[in-house]
Amino acid sequence: MSVKKNIAIIGAGPASSTLAVRLCEAGYHVAIFATFESVPILVGESLVPMIIPMLQTLGVEQEVAAYSIYKPGACFTYNADEIFQFRFSNTPTDLPSYSYNVPRDKFNATLLNAAERAGAILIKRKVKLSANSVGKIILDDDSIKAATHCWNNQAPNLIIDAAGRANIIGRLLDIPMKKGTRQDVALFAHVDQTELVDPGYVHNDRIEQGWCWRIPLPNRVSLGFVIPESYASQYGDTAEQQYDALLRNDKVLQKIAPKTKRLTPVLRFNNYQSISDKLSGENWVMLGDSGGFVDPIFSSGMLIAMDSAFKLAETIINDTPLSEYESVIKQHLEAWFEIASYYYDGRLMTSIKVGETLPNNIFNRWLFNWIEARISRIFSGAAASQPFSFGLLRILVRHGLKNRNPDVYKIK
Ligand SMILES: Cc1cc2nc3c(=O)[nH]c(=O)nc-3n(C[C@H](O)[C@H](O)[C@H](O)COP(=O)(O)OP(=O)(O)OC[C@H]3O[C@@H](n4cnc5c(N)ncnc54)[C@H](O)[C@@H]3O)c2cc1C
Repeated sequence: MSVKKNIAIIGAGPASSTLAVRLCEAGYHVAIFATFESVPILVGESLVPMIIPMLQTLGVEQEVAAYSIYKPGACFTYNADEIFQFRFSNTPTDLPSYSYNVPRDKFNATLLNAAERAGAILIKRKVKLSANSVGKIILDDDSIKAATHCWNNQAPNLIIDAAGRANIIGRLLDIPMKKGTRQDVALFAHVDQTELVDPGYVHNDRIEQGWCWRIPLPNRVSLGFVIPESYASQYGDTAEQQYDALLRNDKVLQKIAPKTKRLTPVLRFNNYQSISDKLSGENWVMLGDSGGFVDPIFSSGMLIAMDSAFKLAETIINDTPLSEYESVIKQHLEAWFEIASYYYDGRLMTSIKVGETLPNNIFNRWLFNWIEARISRIFSGAAASQPFSFGLLRILVRHGLKNRNPDVYKIK
């Protein structure tokens, strides 16, 4: 590459840092503009196995492993004792057989340090963006001055909105967001302990209304509820009141978190499912959560954010039109939207149950293993947007329920 390009990335989350590493390695001049507004807690994310090769490429896996909880799989609980366990070691051998549950502050710092080591310049300031009449995004002069040692006093050629759900370019240009069908809120906090099926699993439990996650972290558990907005408000006015009352009153939570004590304030997120109508323009592009957010039921958020960063880096380095990146990312987001919908409408669990009750003969065992290998690619993060595995999942949940009523496993 003979011409070095100046890149501005807004936000310093995992998507931003991943992109910065890749572009710096290719000789781009990258400035990351970040605000670090204090948030009382961060979720403490559970990662899917397909993030492992990304961490290895970025050279940070050992560092992440040192402060994280090893994650061998996931479990989904319905009707109190009906537990479906998914161990990554049972997935095809070309997929990583594990992942991690990461304390989020440390994970962000690891990736940002990697970006700075690769040559990205971190500038702690809130940028001001404006748009000209043809939708080109303009960075304010003071921010350009602050990055002068990076860009040699020139304006950036490309501005990347990686500011997460702040979605700053989308708001500036008034780009509509396509919303999902559910109007849920997430209430979450870190707690001292809960019951666990396996000390490393991400646990998803259907509760009386909605579902909850338990993500084991060092010396604590991230415990969050995803519930209909109207249901949350029945439990009080503040996030704390709602969280604590639900913890005490929900029958499933009484069983899995009987002695649980909350260690942190409660955070509340809404707008749980959304995809921006447009992800790129003449000199700008959205990356990670800024472009779309999928319900994290299958821990897909970080995968989408970091995978998008790798794809965007390739697009920029190969000088491919941004519209191609946009369509691949939208397809990935849409795929996870659809997969999440099969969790909510009960079809996913019903199809698993049908598989488990097939007569036990050689052919069915072979068939079940063959299907499981393909479907597990989706939940490891390897194939959500690949037509074959995804098509197979669609056939199973739409035509493979053998007249069973999926409502039995529906999430209210
Ligand atoms: C309740 C909940 C639970 C989740 N659970 C999981 C899970 O278990 N597993 C999983 O994989 N994913 C999970 N996710 C999703 C995951 O957190 C996100 O997908 C991921 O953080 C996206 O990374 P990002 O880099 O795009 O954005 P972010 O991580 O949001 O980073 C954006 C950064 O930009 C900064 N910023 C914001 N505005 C500005 C501005 N104006 N100027 C400069 N900087 C700015 C922010 O401070 C932030 O540091 C969950 C999300 C939620 C809400």
